[in-house]
Amino acid sequence: MRVLGIETSCDETGVALYDTDRGLLSDALYSQVAMHADFGGVVPELASRDHVRKLLPLIDTVLCEAGLTRSELDGIAYTAGPGLVGALMVGASTAHGMARALGIPVLGVHHMEGHLLAPMLEETPPEFPFVALLVSGGHTQLIKVEGIGQYTLLGESVDDAAGEAFDKVAKMLSLPYPGGPSVSKLAESGTEGRFRFPRPMTDRPGLDFSFSGLKTHTLTTLKTLESNGTLDEQARADVAWAFEDAVVDTLAIKCRRALKETGYTRLVVAGGVSANRRLRRYLSDVMTKQSAHVFYPDLRFCTDNGAMIALAGALRMKAGEHDHATMFTTPRWPLAELHPPGFQKA
Ligand code: ATP
Ligand code: MG
Ligand code: FE
Repeated sequence: MRVLGIETSCDETGVALYDTDRGLLSDALYSQVAMHADFGGVVPELASRDHVRKLLPLIDTVLCEAGLTRSELDGIAYTAGPGLVGALMVGASTAHGMARALGIPVLGVHHMEGHLLAPMLEETPPEFPFVALLVSGGHTQLIKVEGIGQYTLLGESVDDAAGEAFDKVAKMLSLPYPGGPSVSKLAESGTEGRFRFPRPMTDRPGLDFSFSGLKTHTLTTLKTLESNGTLDEQARADVAWAFEDAVVDTLAIKCRRALKETGYTRLVVAGGVSANRRLRRYLSDVMTKQSAHVFYPDLRFCTDNGAMIALAGALRMKAGEHDHATMFTTPRWPLAELHPPGFQKA
């Protein structure tokens, strides 16, 4: 089954073709980051308009790269939520319009399910069951995954997401958006151990996270250095190092706990923050020590992309799922409640 996947939930227009027999056939991505840079964050209306401009040309690109025509598609999957509603509508209406014209099934998929399944695009995909750490711009969650669509929330951030904390710390350091890669780059020249930042909520049982206090601690440290007149380039790098260290260590502590609690030996780490090299290195070390395996998406499939949506859609459509007449989008959608109102299995 050949499925076209469309991702337009935020500021990336992602399109891909996934074949359930042959794997990923082609994928294309257009990032709006430069357009939103002047505003210090994503401007929803500009995002929607740009998706309108880029989506159809990108669909032609992936079809051309795979040597296929529209009539050779067996289904279309789009991100139905969570995300910016105007941006989601562009993907949803395009998918529904095309599917109607071609007479093929169409399915709205959950953006975080896309992130969660992205490691399955790799050569050695994780087997079920596993624990998934979803770390992105809007989510920090630990999920018990027993199979496709069988997701139980084990814990999540009670305030900021890890990626959001990276973005806010980048702002404090006057670094460009998105903050993850820029904070990480600065941290590379940081001094190990000059500062030690708190590991929030690790001193008590449970699998929830909190990153808001860590962000405030970072700001306070920067302000103290500034008032002392010691906030030079090295001090900024040392702060970035300590912040990244605290995030990585906190995530690793909770992952270890989640594996212990479930008795599972496989961990999947996905979402934009899973591109963080230090997190990947550290988690791989920690997990090897306890004979567990960690699975990551390829670096280009950590942040938003069409391939993960094509994959998630293809797996579900192969199992017989599809949208009925109505197009569906929702800005808020808990992963544990995957089936939208009015959902009917085909
Ligand atoms: P969500 O998936 O929760 O709806 P989103 O789609 O905006 O949110 P993603 O595209 O998955 O999020 O990831 C973007 C986030 O990942 C940003 O917050 C960004 O700073 C962060 N990020 C990207 N690369 C890195 C990195 N190397 N280190 C840390 N964080 C990173
Ligand atoms: Mg993005
Ligand atoms: Fe995302």
